[in-house]
Amino acid sequence: MLTIDRRDFIKATGASAAAAAVGGLALPYIAAAGQHKKVVVVGGGAGGAIAARYIKRADATIDVTLIEQNDHYYTCFMSNEVIGGGRDIDTIRYSYSALKNDGINVVNERAIAIDGKKKTVTTEAGNSFPYERLVVSPGIDFRWGEIENYDMAAAELMPHAYKAAGEQTMLLKKQLEAMDDGGTVVIATPANPFRCPPGPYERACQIAHYLKTNKPKSKVLIVDAKDKFSKQGLFTHAWKKLYSGMIEWMPGADTGGRGIVAVQPKKMMVSTEFDDISADVVNMIPPQHAGMIAHAGGLVNDSGWCPVHLDTFESTIQPQVHVIGDASIATGLPKSGYAANSEAKVCAAAVVALLNDKDPGIPSYVNTCYSLAAPGYGISVASVHRLADDKSTIEKISGGLSDVNASEDTLNREAQYAYSWYDNIVADMFGSYS
Ligand code: FAD
Repeated sequence: MLTIDRRDFIKATGASAAAAAVGGLALPYIAAAGQHKKVVVVGGGAGGAIAARYIKRADATIDVTLIEQNDHYYTCFMSNEVIGGGRDIDTIRYSYSALKNDGINVVNERAIAIDGKKKTVTTEAGNSFPYERLVVSPGIDFRWGEIENYDMAAAELMPHAYKAAGEQTMLLKKQLEAMDDGGTVVIATPANPFRCPPGPYERACQIAHYLKTNKPKSKVLIVDAKDKFSKQGLFTHAWKKLYSGMIEWMPGADTGGRGIVAVQPKKMMVSTEFDDISADVVNMIPPQHAGMIAHAGGLVNDSGWCPVHLDTFESTIQPQVHVIGDASIATGLPKSGYAANSEAKVCAAAVVALLNDKDPGIPSYVNTCYSLAAPGYGISVASVHRLADDKSTIEKISGGLSDVNASEDTLNREAQYAYSWYDNIVADMFGSYS
């Protein structure tokens, strides 16, 4: 049973959709003939694909260009299930054809520069795209260099599997398959803030599920920079119940507060400030910051993330540029795909309103995050948010966690809800509108 007040949840979720002014509405803003306003979106993931689609949907007269470096998107959501052997990598791979059918100009090139004065985005291929409003949703990049010896070459031996691309996910899966029974898998988890706070702990479950079935003498060791983590009570309960003695968590206090600080990839060794640890497989999830184009475009502050006005997601540094998804500082919301979806809808409504000289209004936001501890064992956290009166934060107004003592039936239903959630979010991002 969720402890969330479902009436409040539904009421506020409805309010969110209405405030975002996008879901299934008639087109409220129609520009005069010949006035084609230009919006460019950089990054076609959980935030960018939704922003592009909902801007076009709310005002078909706007020219929307989506600049995305890859011709396919692999969702990070459900990628842990690929690693655990429960689904095929092809089931999380999506093309941009439905967005092209929506009338969005999809450009598969890498953006390398943003000129806030000229209002253009330049790509590696040398093309330049003018905008009146720009939406940037590049996700994360890693703080290479913060962990001694961990660079892009090291990631080929100690995969992070933490970005929307299939190779790293498959590399980690293959390493698990090649490992002998009795091996140790280390999962290195960074300090906050980072993408998908429950992601590493769900991954520990999925890896343990694979090992329990195929290599039962093996172990998973989570080496953490933190002393607490998302859905901790639910995860630790699941670990005891499903994987007794198989998963060990080393909290930040036991690692010197930074988790893993150095690696020796060829020797499969990792080090905290106190210990050297020998492993057979290392899933090294490094510290993160906003995707590199946000740095190149001058959108980040000293934290490495992008400050924004929380009602429109317009950058507080660069006017007419909006930043959504993991790259933004959406104070009060987690860095999740569903939060990125919610932010994208708020941002899309604001961009369309601003281009049509309207007031963007006061939005609401929503987040739900499911984790699969095993097949038929789902847990979740859900929350509804509104903008604080002083606009400085996105306040939680309702929400809840799964019950730690949930029945088998409820756990199974939560797992089915997780799949349903997934089908809905990817349909929203990449499906065809009927
Ligand atoms: P992304 O979805 O990563 O999209 C960024 C896009 O920008 C990419 O397609 C990238 O190719 C493109 N890009 C970047 N730079 C450029 C450039 N210079 N030029 C052109 N294109 C560029 N969230 C949930 O809500 N639920 C879950 O169950 C869940 N599970 C997860 C499990 C794992 C293992 C991980 C790692 C994450 C999970 N997440 C989950 C988090 C979720 O994936 C992210 O929060 C979400 O994808 C963020 O959306 P985004 O638009 O900011 O970035």
